[in-house]
Amino acid sequence: MGVQGSCHCGNVRIELPSKPEWVADCNCSLCRRLAWRTAYFPPDQVRISGETTAYVWGDRMIGIHHCPVCGCGTHWESLGEDFGKMGINARLLDDFDESAVEVRKVDNAG
Ligand SMILES: [Zn+2]
Repeated sequence: MGVQGSCHCGNVRIELPSKPEWVADCNCSLCRRLAWRTAYFPPDQVRISGETTAYVWGDRMIGIHHCPVCGCGTHWESLGEDFGKMGINARLLDDFDESAVEVRKVDNAG
């Protein structure tokens, strides 16, 4: 059964094939500011509708997307290299309960 989500204003809608089995609590310079809980899925299993704006920095490997209306971080995707996955901000999923899913600390600091 699929899982849906949206940003606060509803401009951006997300559809995933299933609930994430775990989410990442990443400590990279951006995630620790944005407090994302990231779920990873293959890009071809994810549907995202609505306009987003991408933030790109550093080595320009990924674009970090947010809703330009309400500002919610929505997802990230590769800008070139095929990672086989993309990141979804699980906080946007309907009925997301952080205490009900495994949260893995991911160490990308530095
Ligand atoms: Zn929005």
